[in-house]
Amino acid sequence: MISTLEIDKLYERHFFILECCIGYFNFDDGWLPIIKDLLEAIEIIHKKKNIEQTNILKVEKKYGILYIEYSGGNSNISNLVRFAERLSYTSCEKCGRKGFLHSTTGTGLGDLYTMCDKHALEHLLRKI
Ligand SMILES: [Zn+2]
Repeated sequence: MISTLEIDKLYERHFFILECCIGYFNFDDGWLPIIKDLLEAIEIIHKKKNIEQTNILKVEKKYGILYIEYSGGNSNISNLVRFAERLSYTSCEKCGRKGFLHSTTGTGLGDLYTMCDKHALEHLLRKI
């Protein structure tokens, strides 16, 4: 899981966007760059355009992929958030390298996780 230190850094740097966020951050470091880049991009859009305040409300792993709940912003923000979520479909949650959605049963049921082959195997072996 992402360390509380990293989460604290995100809140400190992006308080403007995260002040309403109830958190979760129940995923590993591999997706941290996705979140960091998203927050930076949102900050840049807010500096350039006078748009409705964006509030990230929740950032969590759900069904093996990244789920970001937010309010406000504009269509550019919406596109960025959806893009960040889509990046998690193909990025290993552990290391950030190319990953795929796996399930412990191999049938799309059970525990879902997006990982590279190496980390998926380690994850599966821990479940046995
Ligand atoms: Zn990996």
